[in-house]
Amino acid sequence: MLIERVETYIVEQQLENPFYFSQWEYDSRQVCLVKVIAKGGTYGWGEGYGPAGIVSAGIDFLAPLVIGQDPLHVETLWQKMYRRSFDYARGGVLLASLSALDIALWDLRGKIIGQPVSILLGGRRRDKVKVYATGLYFTKDMNFPADLAAEANMYVGQGFKAIKMKVGLGLKEDYQAIKAVREAIGPDIELMVDSNHAYSRGEARALACKIEPLGITFFEEPLSPNDYQGYRELRHASEIPIAAGECEYLCSGFRILLENQCVDIAQPDICAAGGLTETKKIAALANAFGVNLIPHCWGTGIAFAAALHLTSTLDSVPGRMREPEPILEMDRTENPLRDRLTEPLFQAVDGLVDVPTSAGLGVEVNPQLLKEFSAVTK
Ligand code: MG
Repeated sequence: MLIERVETYIVEQQLENPFYFSQWEYDSRQVCLVKVIAKGGTYGWGEGYGPAGIVSAGIDFLAPLVIGQDPLHVETLWQKMYRRSFDYARGGVLLASLSALDIALWDLRGKIIGQPVSILLGGRRRDKVKVYATGLYFTKDMNFPADLAAEANMYVGQGFKAIKMKVGLGLKEDYQAIKAVREAIGPDIELMVDSNHAYSRGEARALACKIEPLGITFFEEPLSPNDYQGYRELRHASEIPIAAGECEYLCSGFRILLENQCVDIAQPDICAAGGLTETKKIAALANAFGVNLIPHCWGTGIAFAAALHLTSTLDSVPGRMREPEPILEMDRTENPLRDRLTEPLFQAVDGLVDVPTSAGLGVEVNPQLLKEFSAVTK
């Protein structure tokens, strides 16, 4: 069953309530999906993380390498795409295009073999994955920080046991917000903070020191992803575990982060770092350095399903009988693409999400909504 064609879709929806974080404002959600179709009509879905038009152009560049090939040879096809892109993309958005195709190939392979991706990855260690709610962004007319505290309480009411909030507005505002949220949710809910590389070394150290008594599970992207030395210093100066990796690509990128002892938690995005094929290897590499993986995830149900399957298989280091469960990011911000375009609608019950058990990723795209949401269809 050879691959016959590759279709890309740029889907976009305007947001009813634009929100911002330390770097920019979102007023719409846009993503590039890819459908890899084999002769006979069996197909797989994939998704890239990054500017949709550029991801789509990258897929146009790579697609001829997989058309006419056997989709069961997923890793061989990955190598082929990697070799062809290596001179231009040791990192960056062309790898999101490769990742999208790779995820689609895993979905397609699962459907052909009749097994869920988690089984193809080596087998599930758990049938439900613990998730944390990502939200607590900022809006222009918000009542700060009371609205953040109320939103955090809403997630607790929905059964989440862990919540991640945005920081990076400035040290004073950040402390005010984190304190308000911690007081609202009480001491038993895990709380993480993410500055999206907003801070200098001195600022990040000052904030980490100030919020240590508030019980923070991890501090995500405190510094620029280029500042490996700064990460190393902060990690050794702070009691709070340091997390990063959503701007890293491939095992080779994570090797630098890990060798420099930059992080306690590695956060590759499967839709950017090299797909399921490479992220499985990044997990193995991180484990060899004694570092656990918490995938970054920001997309439709396709991205979430891929992350669910991978997280269901993850080992933790050093490991013990009552070991902590790996925890996956579950974006709760407004996103009609995630909530309406793909099925099933993944939902957390008591902070856990079922891993799909049908063949492939176990996620489908609604064809009517695909048409409705498509900015460009090829
Ligand atoms: Mg982040």
